[in-house]
Amino acid sequence: MSSPRTSDVLVIGGGIIGLVTAWRAAQRGFGTAVVDPAPGGGAAQVAAGMLAAVTELHHGEQTLLGLNLASARRYPEFAAELTELTGHDLGYRRCGTLAVALDSDDRAHLRELHALQQQSGLESEWLSGRECRRLEPLLAPGVRGGLRVDGDHQIDPRRLTAALVAACERAGVVFHRVRAERLSVAGGRATGVVTPDGTALAAGQVVLAGGSLSGRLAGVPQDVLPPVRPVKGQVLRLTVPPRYAPFLNRTVRAVVRGSQVYLVPRENGELVVGATSEELGWDTTVTAGGVYELLRDAHELVPGITELPLTETRAGLRPGSPDNAPLLGPTELAGLLLATGHYRNGVLLTPVTGDAMAHALATGELPDEARPFTPRRFGAAALSEQPA
Ligand SMILES: Cc1cc2nc3c(=O)[nH]c(=O)nc-3n(C[C@H](O)[C@H](O)[C@H](O)COP(=O)(O)OP(=O)(O)OC[C@H]3O[C@@H](n4cnc5c(N)ncnc54)[C@H](O)[C@@H]3O)c2cc1C
Repeated sequence: MSSPRTSDVLVIGGGIIGLVTAWRAAQRGFGTAVVDPAPGGGAAQVAAGMLAAVTELHHGEQTLLGLNLASARRYPEFAAELTELTGHDLGYRRCGTLAVALDSDDRAHLRELHALQQQSGLESEWLSGRECRRLEPLLAPGVRGGLRVDGDHQIDPRRLTAALVAACERAGVVFHRVRAERLSVAGGRATGVVTPDGTALAAGQVVLAGGSLSGRLAGVPQDVLPPVRPVKGQVLRLTVPPRYAPFLNRTVRAVVRGSQVYLVPRENGELVVGATSEELGWDTTVTAGGVYELLRDAHELVPGITELPLTETRAGLRPGSPDNAPLLGPTELAGLLLATGHYRNGVLLTPVTGDAMAHALATGELPDEARPFTPRRFGAAALSEQPA
């Protein structure tokens, strides 16, 4: 890098996706900078941190499953590398997940998920209600059955974020703690950004990793702007006093009256209960209705939660995309790459995104596993090729 205002790679957005991209780029020898008024903030401050490739499987998302599994496989090594480098404990727990059903509709839904998992060659085991309660004695007596998925783990996203900031600092990443006001384009190429006070930050390549705000950056040509929208999620944090530990041994989740609810127990006694899913623009208000529904549904699953102190309520924005999958790699604008749209799996997808983006920055191409996630799948040319 010739000056602090010039870099080989400039990453717009210091959420987990921008941070992992910057870290991996710096490790490859790129002079790297991140522009974000509050690096280390973003959706990961709210997220539960489930690494749930198998229990998050949905019909029509088999391509995304491949990327989710690739990232899940990388997690042990990724977490070990970050911890060794930074000394941070990431709260990575290979505790498994139990998805349960409370009534016959839920059970039918879970049976369908089980069939889809089996067709996809995934490991999950059907358990009776009694077997579920043997694993998790505090489950409600009405639990009718469930799926045991030992391969779905968890990490503490706040610790992960702090470790990524530390790893970036050690790798020499420069942080500009300011908003990017507009993308600079010259000669048909992205050349950097301009900040609100008119400062130009120049770069050989620019990565747009602005989470749910990625589609709003001025200066990005209309046909390159990512089709990303905010999907609000409210989350509660409770604390398990030592006398109640272990309250739950693994993540417990269910669909109650059509809404997802999960309880994620951390080793430090935190119990995360989430999450609502609301299409309300950039609103991050915590509402009485959201808190009520989460507590009501979680209480149906595990009645004992009403004994626990409620320590935090918070809402965050998932960066949703039209097919629920991320947009990764080069765009039609030379010099501009995207790393956004990770929706409800951004924490899970952090390791594979870092690797794919570093590869794309170094070679101009995505690695094979990430190719289906090119932003070009939403471009005008791709859309005009689709059957009417
Ligand atoms: C309630 C909830 C629960 C979740 N649970 C899970 C889970 O269990 N497992 C999982 O894998 N994922 C989960 N997620 C999803 C995951 O948190 C997100 O996919 C991920 O954090 C997105 O990261 P990001 O870096 O792309 O975006 P963000 O976290 O939104 O970060 C974007 C960053 O870009 C910055 N920025 C934006 N515009 C600009 C600009 N113009 N200039 C400078 N900076 C800019 C912002 O300040 C921000 O820091 C959850 C999300 C929510 C909300």
